[in-house]
Amino acid sequence: MHRPLRLTIDRSAIQSNWRWLADRAGVAAGAAVKADGYGVGARETTETLLHAGCRDFFVSTWAEAEALGDLPSDGGLVVLHGVGPDDGEAALRVAARPCLNSAEQVARWKQIAPSRSCDVMIDTGMNRLGLRPTEIGALEGLSIDTLHSHLACADEDSSLNQMQLERFRAVASAVSAKRYALANSAGIGLGKDYSFDLVRPGISLYGGVQRPEFEGHIRQVVRVEAQVVQRRLIPAGESCGYGATFIAKQDVEAAILNIGYADGYLRGFSSHGSAFAGEFALPVLGRVSMDLIAVEVDAAPQLKEGDWVEIDYDLPSASRQSGLSQYELLTTLGSRFERRWV
Ligand SMILES: *Cc1c(COP(=O)(O)O)cnc(C)c1O
Repeated sequence: MHRPLRLTIDRSAIQSNWRWLADRAGVAAGAAVKADGYGVGARETTETLLHAGCRDFFVSTWAEAEALGDLPSDGGLVVLHGVGPDDGEAALRVAARPCLNSAEQVARWKQIAPSRSCDVMIDTGMNRLGLRPTEIGALEGLSIDTLHSHLACADEDSSLNQMQLERFRAVASAVSAKRYALANSAGIGLGKDYSFDLVRPGISLYGGVQRPEFEGHIRQVVRVEAQVVQRRLIPAGESCGYGATFIAKQDVEAAILNIGYADGYLRGFSSHGSAFAGEFALPVLGRVSMDLIAVEVDAAPQLKEGDWVEIDYDLPSASRQSGLSQYELLTTLGSRFERRWV
């Protein structure tokens, strides 16, 4: 059946972003493909990056790992949430390494699979997941593939970055592991001091521009297109949409498009989003509905029912328009889209 909404996902842009990030880091680059590849598609992203030479993939849960377990052949799949009390059976069955996040998880892993290699997360100041530097005694006897830490503010010029770097260096010199890793996408922008042996980009693979250094280098990956359901004239003085928040100052030509907050085009785009017909910008008029938006089409007199319109979904720009983070823009995309990998 015809699906009236389209997501086009550009494989070569994902590969080009990965290569640029790896090159900038100067070390091996993995890929975060958790949350179904940030909503874009974990399987397709993993396949695409395997072709480019990526060998390390990060998911959050064992269920996500199992869905990809047949892909990376050389044990390059890591479960970031580690092994919880209910994960023992999955951890034995699925070909992935846990990233252990607490002394409890370390003890559990020593019971479940004492000789199998694992990753370990050190908390250097984010206070989210990870063992504190004072707890590294618990790691004695583990076979650690990669020792990780994670930056809290890499997209900002915060003094926490340097502090986390210094703390991680101190821990790395005291804990033996095959590799050490600290940087996410934004961390790669902080410079090679943050690279260690492996970097873990996520959002910038999918088009996220987290730091000014990335502008002009990171390519847009996801394009969103909707169809015109109806074209109409909003007479001067009348309103459009729920809450009547848009009122036409003069007669306005509008196109009603079949996308709304149920598709992840959230209400932050109300009166702020825009679409394109060729080079013409078509501003969103009034509130985003569940399944519809209105855009002004005075600039596109020939646009008619059934025509396709591109929504401005370039991540930095759509983030400014909507107030959503570049991450949320991707992970909220709904299930009504036809997803086309090109
Ligand atoms: C999600 C995640 C990443 C990727 O972060 P981005 O900001 O998307 O590049 C890297 N490391 C860890 C531990 C993560 O949870």
